[in-house]
Amino acid sequence: MFFFFVGGLEQQVREVLKSGVGSCIYCNSRADLVEYEKALKLFFVPVWRWPGKEPVMHCNNCKLFFPQHMCFPPPDSSSAILEGLRCRFCDQLVEAEFRFCPFCGSAI
Ligand SMILES: [Zn+2]
Ligand SMILES: [Zn+2]
Repeated sequence: MFFFFVGGLEQQVREVLKSGVGSCIYCNSRADLVEYEKALKLFFVPVWRWPGKEPVMHCNNCKLFFPQHMCFPPPDSSSAILEGLRCRFCDQLVEAEFRFCPFCGSAI
């Protein structure tokens, strides 16, 4: 029965909820938060599809699906946190919008 093997179950993106919110656990490129669906395909035509339970992360580069709690923060925002502003006088971390240090009162 050759035809028996033509069908298959595929996981695919249904809708992108937020793009670039994480990085791929496999290739470390940007990953999107997506709603996915599973599609049953016969002769490469979807004959039945049903939505996934909860949003998952999807990598655009290697097409990997993985749970949201496993994802790393996106490369850009993690470096921005590390680059946080420090007071010159007391060396405390200060928010970039502040003009005066809340810890020692010095002008930044
Ligand atoms: Zn990837
Ligand atoms: Zn200070």
